[in-house]
Amino acid sequence: MIDLYIDFDGVILDTITTTYDIMKQANIDTTDDNNTKLFYKNLDWKHIIEVTKEINESYSCIRKIIRSKRFNVHILTHVHSLHEIEHKVYAIRKNLGHDIKIIAVPKGISKAEMVNPKDAILIDDFSQNTEQWEEKGGLGIRFNTELEDKGFLVIDRLDQILEYTFEVENGINKKLSRNS
Ligand SMILES: [Mg+2]
Repeated sequence: MIDLYIDFDGVILDTITTTYDIMKQANIDTTDDNNTKLFYKNLDWKHIIEVTKEINESYSCIRKIIRSKRFNVHILTHVHSLHEIEHKVYAIRKNLGHDIKIIAVPKGISKAEMVNPKDAILIDDFSQNTEQWEEKGGLGIRFNTELEDKGFLVIDRLDQILEYTFEVENGINKKLSRNS
């Protein structure tokens, strides 16, 4: 089975919108790296997860992907604090049970450094993550609700991955085909 890593923020939950709205209300400059880092470090993730909506039925899509038995599904998420990991784990366990591995990546480190991307798939809304993933021999799939591809295969619902066949032969990138 192919390892499939799924991002959390901006793919499973729309936390990007929630947190940007809060920063806007608090007059925090989102272009200032230090201020945004501090904001995320001190954020009440219990609250954020409670008030943030799922993106396009993400949890039920993931359950469908697990049931297909075609992929080893993992959640690969950047985090700014231990408190953030704690509440993401609660949310994921509550919605997806224990059939899934959760890997928290400290914000300063690339996802492609935390796990081995070779012949594995990453679904992520941030193109820097999919770029770094492909540089290390994996296949990056972009998640974007506007279907803006930025040069990647793009999806706007997680279960769309089941419409594709992936084969690993001299690298996973070479054998991508859409099921008819
Ligand atoms: Mg993301």
